[in-house]
Amino acid sequence: MPQESAVVIATYSRRMRLRLASGHEVDARIKGKRLKPVCGDAVSVRPIPGETERLITSIRDRDNELTRPNLRGETDVLAANVEQLVVVAAATPDPDWYIVDRYLCAAENMNIPAVVVYNKSDLHRTDDEVEKALAEYERLGYAAVCVSAKTGDNFAELEALLADKIAIVVGQSGVGKSTIINRLTGARRQKTAAVSEKRGEGRHTTVNSVMLSLPGGGAVIDSPGVRDYAPALQSSMEVVRGFPEIGAAGSRCRFANCRHLREPGCAVKEAVADAAIDTRRYESYRRLLAITEKRG
Ligand code: GDP
Ligand code: ZN
Repeated sequence: MPQESAVVIATYSRRMRLRLASGHEVDARIKGKRLKPVCGDAVSVRPIPGETERLITSIRDRDNELTRPNLRGETDVLAANVEQLVVVAAATPDPDWYIVDRYLCAAENMNIPAVVVYNKSDLHRTDDEVEKALAEYERLGYAAVCVSAKTGDNFAELEALLADKIAIVVGQSGVGKSTIINRLTGARRQKTAAVSEKRGEGRHTTVNSVMLSLPGGGAVIDSPGVRDYAPALQSSMEVVRGFPEIGAAGSRCRFANCRHLREPGCAVKEAVADAAIDTRRYESYRRLLAITEKRG
């Protein structure tokens, strides 16, 4: 049976939408119960005799995964093989920088660059706190951009940051992820929605994640909105890896296994006292460490 390679561009529980190497898009189902492809996976497929759907027979090893723990205490994979993470905050709902930090921590552990987008700039609610948070992210080496998905303000800058990469767009519900993606992709999104409706799965089909091509090359993955987010981390080492400034200062702590909480000779606590490390980022680190150790 001829095998073809393809990329998963949308998942509807056990149903998949794929883009074949030829660029052609097809529907697929999955061979067996053990394979769990997600958006972004590179898969092998073969035809099913007498049907238009393909059968997914294997998944290529992933470069990375964006994960989160689910309510049953297991790890859900939201997407795989992502090249950039775009975390969106906005004037409304009130920005939660702790959630932004956690997504950035996920990006660090995935080994990919991240962009912070502050949306709804047309509402003119960019106060000192917002300016300070964005400046801090830039100081840490993340790109930060203020946009309005409503007016298109600063979209050229955002498009330049997204060009030719596969990015996942994440952030709290209501910050404008769908509106941003619609503006970036034009009519493509509606087309994907129409596909699932035509297949008779109705309007209530839960689409876990969808990858949409950008007109100028590259793609964005639309992921389900979250009220709260914390990456599924395995150890305190991964928490430290998620906060590069803490990792850097931590190399000067007296104890190699310093957790930067109450240990003597802690260079991280010194850096916080000297304002070389942002107090809120340090608090963010402590909270995520507590969550991770409680779970472990
Ligand atoms: P999502 O949950 O993150 O996908 O957010 P949506 O894209 O559904 O947007 C949530 C609400 O914010 C909707 O009512 C949008 O019309 C609105 N919205 C999105 N972007 C902007 C923006 O740039 N400015 C303003 N004023 N409203 C926006
Ligand atoms: Zn320390």
